Amino acid sequence: MGARFGPAGNPPSFYARGFKSSLEMPGWLKELGLTAYEYQCVRGVNIGEQAAVRLGEVARRYDIALSIHAPYYITLGTDDPALKEKTKMHLLKSMQAARWMGARVVVFHPGTGVGRDRKEVLSRAKKLLKEVLAEAGEMGLGDVRLAPETAGKPAQLGTLEEILELCALDAQVVPAVDFAHLHAAGGGCLKEVDDFARVLDRVEECLGRRAVEELHVHFSPIEYTAKGEKRHRTLEEGLYGPDFSLLAGLLVERDLSPTVICESYDRQVEDALAYRDLYLKIKSSREG
Ligand SMILES: [Zn+2]
Repeated sequence: MGARFGPAGNPPSFYARGFKSSLEMPGWLKELGLTAYEYQCVRGVNIGEQAAVRLGEVARRYDIALSIHAPYYITLGTDDPALKEKTKMHLLKSMQAARWMGARVVVFHPGTGVGRDRKEVLSRAKKLLKEVLAEAGEMGLGDVRLAPETAGKPAQLGTLEEILELCALDAQVVPAVDFAHLHAAGGGCLKEVDDFARVLDRVEECLGRRAVEELHVHFSPIEYTAKGEKRHRTLEEGLYGPDFSLLAGLLVERDLSPTVICESYDRQVEDALAYRDLYLKIKSSREG
């Protein structure tokens, strides 16, 4: 098995090569030796059934693991009825698209607005998530997995513990661990192997071995301030952490097969390749 690597969305280098459609991504990724692709629906789910089914077919042909990133307009902890409906709609539409594609997970940001009472917001978020799962079940989408993602800012719902609580609700909910976000929200907290190990340990403690084995990971260099995430950066700049080699060593040591999606700014394919190379180098040195 081993880890899979791929980009979030289509980088400028894809279009520079003359490609135009996301349907061409899986073939190109295969050619590059990448094995995952996160399809971006961050501004809304605009892909129709036919295109989604075709993307799924092409991805399977080239053995590219698909995931979907749901729209940014989700606020799971809201008490505003209109926002609740919107949140449900975005999640259900993303799940429908995932079903058409055969995508493994729908990644989403739980959203903003934690204010002073995080506990209350989290309990509202759990309630709404349960409603979404119930409706998804009625729509025949009971096996599409939702993956709430760790947030890049403390003001957003989505600390690791909050994500794990959401996941504990139902086996259909799995964590998306964005290490860049954890690093940024924690003021640069991922410095040593142990910092990464603690994250993996917590996932395993709360959700079991399989959850950590098949973890959905986001990774990229990131710039942050006291308020957390500022923007995603690139390896080329050489200035920003977290350091992927620390995580890669643990993935090898613990025999994990996560999907690692790279979100480097405009260089998500280039940096996914760099992460893959780093991982393979560590893997072959430890095996040899
Ligand atoms: Zn995200």
